[in-house]
Amino acid sequence: MAKANENNRGNNRNGSNWIRKDLRLAIYLRDNMTCVFCKTHADNTTLTLDHVVSRSEGGSNGTPNLVTACRSCNSSRQDMPIADFAARFDGAAQRVANAISTTRIEMVDYRNTAKGMYADPIEKAKIDAMRARASCSWKSEHAWRK
Ligand SMILES: [Zn+2]
Repeated sequence: MAKANENNRGNNRNGSNWIRKDLRLAIYLRDNMTCVFCKTHADNTTLTLDHVVSRSEGGSNGTPNLVTACRSCNSSRQDMPIADFAARFDGAAQRVANAISTTRIEMVDYRNTAKGMYADPIEKAKIDAMRARASCSWKSEHAWRK
């Protein structure tokens, strides 16, 4: 199973196995559960992860290369340079800059918070409700179970 995860990692933005569920949630938390571009909150949209530098341009799947984007912004941007797309939204360039400058230690905190949410039945129910509306990548998180 670990091998399969290794092989799939990074192959498919929309596919199942490329990021752990707690890390995905940690990134959403870091970005205030809102799209970094249009600021729409998770309650009102479907969140996705967007690569700052796209996979096709050699961007990694590491957290400094991932920002929270609503499905609409993610699909509108496609492979446009992030600075060009962010320029369409007031303050988005700064939000992207803040997101990608988060330190490793801060990300550990967000990840611990995410793990705690998954362990709490009430919080987990909220996450599951978001997942039910989410892109296929978050819906299929059962595939990431350790
Ligand atoms: Zn958006």
